[in-house]
Amino acid sequence: MDNYINNCVKVVKFGGSSLADAEQFKKVRDIILDDPCRRYVVPSAPGKRFKEDDKVTDLLYACYNLSAQGEPIDDVFNKIVERYDSIVNALNVDLDLSDEYLHIKWSIKHHAGRDYAASRGEYLNGKILASYLGYDFVDPTVFIKFADDGLFDSEMTNTLLSAKLAKHEKAVIPGFYGSMPNGTIKTFSRGGSDITGSIVARAVGADIYENWTDVDGFLMADPRIVDDPKVISTITYRELRELSYMGAGVLHEDSIFPVRVAGIPINIRNTNNKNSRGTMIVPASDEFDTSSIITGIAGKKGFSVLTIEKALMNSETGFGRKVLEVIEEEGISFEHLPSGIDTMSVVLNTHEIDEHRKAIKEAICEAVNPDAVSIEDGLALIAVVGRAMPKAKGTAYRVFKAVAEADINIKMIDQGSSELNIILGVDEADFNAALNAIYYEFVK
Ligand code: ASP
Repeated sequence: MDNYINNCVKVVKFGGSSLADAEQFKKVRDIILDDPCRRYVVPSAPGKRFKEDDKVTDLLYACYNLSAQGEPIDDVFNKIVERYDSIVNALNVDLDLSDEYLHIKWSIKHHAGRDYAASRGEYLNGKILASYLGYDFVDPTVFIKFADDGLFDSEMTNTLLSAKLAKHEKAVIPGFYGSMPNGTIKTFSRGGSDITGSIVARAVGADIYENWTDVDGFLMADPRIVDDPKVISTITYRELRELSYMGAGVLHEDSIFPVRVAGIPINIRNTNNKNSRGTMIVPASDEFDTSSIITGIAGKKGFSVLTIEKALMNSETGFGRKVLEVIEEEGISFEHLPSGIDTMSVVLNTHEIDEHRKAIKEAICEAVNPDAVSIEDGLALIAVVGRAMPKAKGTAYRVFKAVAEADINIKMIDQGSSELNIILGVDEADFNAALNAIYYEFVK
């Protein structure tokens, strides 16, 4: 390891669009060769080359579905073979995947399972990338482990994977999958290669986890709603968690935890613009952009508010617990709990409560005997997030002023106890306008 600068270790994950064809593979190789610290590489499966194109993972799910219905998979499977062969041929990689194709096809037909089928996209891409780079190929099947209940087993994985990767100076580890205790393949949810990258970064004690994608970084707001939003240069894990929870994309939500435990920063980078420094996601930062104060804004539609009114509610002990017990017994999780003196509101996901509306209302009447109980749909939530907010006086005022000046009615307000965010509820119809109003109040 002596020839590595300070033994530095970078884990680099490349998303599907970064590895969609041979040209993209070349960019990826250049990026890796630019820096000898980029020693552990986690690829996704080939993504779309153009808007109407198929992602290989989607084709693999299609093969599984056809086979489960007893239909032939040959046409779809051949498309997958063509995708990989075109990459192998154009790159002149000395690799013959024909036996792999036969085995995968046979396994899909013989019920190897949905997750097995999907995982082969990353597996084959990893094989190609390892041979193109001259890196070792490490199959995560036996090192990334899930427990019997299907949940990711972080500690067992960390032990197994650290020991394995210590034996490889440079390796490609396919993203997205691991295995169950009985050895069958299990994938993370869609976009899960981000999680693998984070797990690998923790396992090798990386200095940094670089997540290479097709945008310049994490944006301050959704570009489908706000025109050309600014890239966030530095964001903390906690801020990112708040924004991702509220729907801001780029990184898989669960990919933050493994690196966060180890305090490893994540750097979001653009494969198609490698000189842009991207977004740094760090454990903590005192540094912030004094001109904008807030770090980002995100939001989601599709919430309902359950409101319970009862005179003298405030003096009735156990009221809140009884209401929350009803929600829990229906198997629903709640989002927020803004309350008044004689009213209590519970913000819920509309899609989760659909078949439970009647049962919830009845059970609440039974449990707390309220004066009124109602459920109102059509609420959108907006989170304004910023580590600078606790120190910057007047931030809440500016948020509310911007929304009021846009002639929008605020239906709910909640400030997280961390003071890291202010959450507003508005009518779904006002969602886009409210987001824009807040963005332009802070970003001039
Ligand atoms: N290939 C998988 C998907 O399309 C996982 C990933 O790309 O991260 O969801």
